[in-house]
Amino acid sequence: MPGGYSRMTTEPYAHYDYIAANLQQVRQAVARAAEAAKRDPAQIKLIAVSKFHPAEAVMAAIKAGQHEFGENRVQEGKKKFTELAQIYPAMMSTPLPPLCLNLIGPLQTNKALEAVMHFHTIQSLDRPKLAASLQMALQKAKPKLNPNLYIEVNIGKEPQKAGIMPEDLAAFLTECKQMPELKINGLMCIPPQGQNPVPYFNLLRQLAERHALPHLSMGMSADYTEAIAAGATEIRLGTAIFGQRQI
Ligand SMILES: *Cc1c(COP(=O)(O)O)cnc(C)c1O
Repeated sequence: MPGGYSRMTTEPYAHYDYIAANLQQVRQAVARAAEAAKRDPAQIKLIAVSKFHPAEAVMAAIKAGQHEFGENRVQEGKKKFTELAQIYPAMMSTPLPPLCLNLIGPLQTNKALEAVMHFHTIQSLDRPKLAASLQMALQKAKPKLNPNLYIEVNIGKEPQKAGIMPEDLAAFLTECKQMPELKINGLMCIPPQGQNPVPYFNLLRQLAERHALPHLSMGMSADYTEAIAAGATEIRLGTAIFGQRQI
């Protein structure tokens, strides 16, 4: 390396400059989609999905002003963001909004307590047994925790996919109301691959309206402009921000 200069040690996130450029493009596209839908872009939360990407990539996004992130796995999210939280305050000179971590992947019941301790939002509440485990975890947690919980709806009724079936949502919500610790205030979905997502987005919005749930998490890298047109209040973008995942 010429002159012994190493970008990796002096400025670990310089190597990830493209992330700032991607974020800027995405924000512009979000603003355009919001304008086309006569919506306020400030009402659309951008979640940067950092699964399989290293903490340095997340740091580059933070440097570019991003502070909402999404992870699929409790262990990966906990490890990455515990480290980041330690250096986060020293990273920038101005006061920062808090780092916010959203769990968007499947959650095992035995990880419920860890999940509520490390994630601000759990968007993958998809079965009664998990609701009961979250209720128990929240009863136990000290100090008291109050994460937002979104129900994942299997909007395309796909047998291989997680989520509550649309026709079972009302009964599931009634069941969850018996568990006073659960603050359910949103819905999340992943529409079927290779189909027009718009009817599925519209159906999720109708379900949220029917049950007076304010948060609507839908839209990924390939379809977020359609999701915004259909009323998404948060979009979850991985590839469009961080590039292809190495799996
Ligand atoms: C991975 C993932 C995303 C991000 O997907 P991209 O297509 O890379 O934007 C969004 N939501 C969920 C639930 C995911 O698992």
